[in-house]
Amino acid sequence: MIDSGFAERLFAGRWIAGPGIDDAVREAKKFNRAGVKAIINYLGEEFHSKEDVAEATDVIMRAISAIKANRIKADISVKPTQLGLLVGKQVFLSNLRKLAREAKKAGVFLWIDMEEPETVDSVVDAYASEFAGKEVGLCVQSYLRRSAEDLRLLARHGAVVRLVKGAYSLSHATYSTHEEITRNYLLLMQYLFGHSKRFTLATHDLDIIEKALKLNARYKRDVTYAMLKGVRNRYLKDLAARGENASVYIPFGDKWVSYSYRRLREAGHLSLIVKSLFERQGV
Ligand SMILES: Cc1cc2nc3c(=O)[nH]c(=O)nc-3n(C[C@H](O)[C@H](O)[C@H](O)COP(=O)(O)OP(=O)(O)OC[C@H]3O[C@@H](n4cnc5c(N)ncnc54)[C@H](O)[C@@H]3O)c2cc1C
Repeated sequence: MIDSGFAERLFAGRWIAGPGIDDAVREAKKFNRAGVKAIINYLGEEFHSKEDVAEATDVIMRAISAIKANRIKADISVKPTQLGLLVGKQVFLSNLRKLAREAKKAGVFLWIDMEEPETVDSVVDAYASEFAGKEVGLCVQSYLRRSAEDLRLLARHGAVVRLVKGAYSLSHATYSTHEEITRNYLLLMQYLFGHSKRFTLATHDLDIIEKALKLNARYKRDVTYAMLKGVRNRYLKDLAARGENASVYIPFGDKWVSYSYRRLREAGHLSLIVKSLFERQGV
């Protein structure tokens, strides 16, 4: 039997800064020294209790203060279900408003992660009607069939979008093959180049990044390339050294299981997992 501490060190250590805000700050400082901005995320999702939601909102408030106090270059990223979306939309909205106010005061950009397909409607609605254009950004997933339509709506509201492939469950609402999801990513990315001045391309797919770099030689948009801590970070650091905007998503906290499970699934097969665990850190 593998004990949970061992499993945590083996699987989560590479992808997660550690349990506390200090761990995230320390990791962000390392990446900042390499010219890479951080996107700090407090782990935890799918909360059904008001106590869990209140605790998470409080930790995120403190993380925003820590970013300011330590003068690190970092955004903050939150998950709708950790702010209470499953408790009630008003709970989610009230916590998001509170965090958006605090982040604005501290000069910290606030990202909203996107989760399971059933949550997307409420989150896009809330973002478009209240948070777009206010130093708050929204994640859009290329595996969702609806995302082209969402991008058109979001562009009209002056949204700042972070484009990803999507890490949650596949369903009738999503494309099901890797090829379809990648093809849609390229279409959505092309739309962003045509209609948005500032956006983030969050992917480890180097073909996509090379295509984006070529497109941006023509469009000259404010593009940031973002990756997860522990995945292809040397490449990210090289992008920063070439003068591109680069960000790394740094999770912290003790609720590491769901996040690590998604990363293991994406790593694909054992040889990649082992390579990813033992590859020297880029920063
Ligand atoms: C900054 C950032 C924020 C994100 N936010 C969200 C969000 O809010 N909602 C959401 O649903 N998803 C989010 N994701 C995850 C995203 O949806 C994908 O699941 C994840 O990025 C893998 O897709 P990919 O674009 O890298 O392409 P893939 O085609 O999956 O991967 C490209 C290549 O990268 C390598 N690779 C990818 N992942 C790993 C890994 N874990 N270990 C080792 N190698 C790997 C593989 O070699 C693979 O061939 C985020 C990703 C990033 C980088």
